[in-house]
Amino acid sequence: MISRIDMRGSLPEDLRDVLPRAELDVEAALEKVRPICDDVRHRGAAAVRELTAKFDGVEIATTRVPAEVLEQALAELDPKIRAALEESIRRARLVHRDQRRTDATTQVVPGGTVTERWVPVDRVGLYVPGGRAVYPSSVVMNVVPAQEAGVGSLAVSSPAQKAFGGLPHPTIMAACALLGVDEVYSVGGAQAVAMFAYGTEECAPATMVTGPGNIWVAAAKRLLKGRIGIDSEAGPTEIAILADETADPVHVAADLISQAEHDTIAAAVLVTTSPELADAVEKELPGQVSATKHSERIAEALGGRQSGIVLVSSIDDGLKVVDAYAAEHLEIHTADAAAVAARVRNAGAVFVGPYAPVSLGDYLAGSNHVLPTGGCACHSSGLSVQSFLRGIHVVDYTRDALAGAAAHVSVLADAEDLPAHGAAIRARFDWQVPATTET
Ligand code: NAD
Repeated sequence: MISRIDMRGSLPEDLRDVLPRAELDVEAALEKVRPICDDVRHRGAAAVRELTAKFDGVEIATTRVPAEVLEQALAELDPKIRAALEESIRRARLVHRDQRRTDATTQVVPGGTVTERWVPVDRVGLYVPGGRAVYPSSVVMNVVPAQEAGVGSLAVSSPAQKAFGGLPHPTIMAACALLGVDEVYSVGGAQAVAMFAYGTEECAPATMVTGPGNIWVAAAKRLLKGRIGIDSEAGPTEIAILADETADPVHVAADLISQAEHDTIAAAVLVTTSPELADAVEKELPGQVSATKHSERIAEALGGRQSGIVLVSSIDDGLKVVDAYAAEHLEIHTADAAAVAARVRNAGAVFVGPYAPVSLGDYLAGSNHVLPTGGCACHSSGLSVQSFLRGIHVVDYTRDALAGAAAHVSVLADAEDLPAHGAAIRARFDWQVPATTET
């Protein structure tokens, strides 16, 4: 059901190449999404509606969901789901509120200050996936940080569902209403990203688009980046688990399965120092897989080349492996898990010990679940308040403070053969370099 790689002894030179990884050819998908994006750019909402009919199999009269439909979805929401969403929102707000930035002013010299002002982007389009699974939790994870950052205009887009007459899934609409978002579109895939980038008659263009999605969403984000700001290309879900002999194979198997449930190309990787644990997990998997609803999808994900069990000789080697893999989600099931977790350098989010499974983070830990995938966790972070802010340096110098810098500016400008730069300073001092130099 799941392959095994034995790395006991010495670790391979280029670990990244030999580790299991989904082959998600976003570059190849670029050629397919380019005409989709061009079509939306030139023909607006009519193109979006036609693409929805083509890819989602449902005719829609308008892309915008009426506000009363959102309110009705909330009124009809199962009270248990409502209570769970409200608690998810409450916890996410606690964490994301603490991420707010305060402006910082640095006095560089007397009379010379630089202030870093944090300003939210003006308008954000939040993509909530809805192809294979429905993700009201992604509404929470996108909307809460944007709201806490102070973004003024928020729009959500999620695929039109044939089963619901071309509207997004009712739980997604209800989650939007619960969060106070009244601008929602029933549009999925690359056409949703293009709609936010270029705008249509029915949707004003956004400054930024965020949220996870499939390969078409990722390719559209890559193609339109620059025209519109993006967070990351959060792609198929990944879980890595670093475990030793103290881990419970039932928990480990359940957690691998929980993330494999997202997608046939989701990745589940166990890195362990214990061959006994590896055997026990392998033994445990088939029973748990066959007992669950999406067993076919999960079996394909676990059997795919992106998933596997990696045997290592020590926790130190295990840490090298998980750092090279840079998983979206990393669970630590070892003795003194907190100490091991503190040594991790690359991961979207780290889950410490037996009582912090990724499923908790998916819904209710308070952390964000829109996280970098495909190894991007070595250079990128998950969605946060910071994702929606720009730091603007505000430079304020008096005449004396400028005089103190003038000589050095002139020297550096000449060194770069840009004499007009120096002249712009001298123009303020009768075309002379002032004598005073601040030290
Ligand atoms: P999706 O909403 O991303 O994509 C569905 C859309 O794809 C449809 O609306 C359709 O318009 C478009 N589409 C389908 N086939 C197409 C084709 N042949 N050509 C062009 N467009 C096409 O939903 P999904 O497919 O379920 O994918 C969601 C992904 O998001 C999964 O891989 C899941 O693992 C991932 N995810 C990631 C995170 C994260 O934080 N990284 C969180 C949640 C979900």
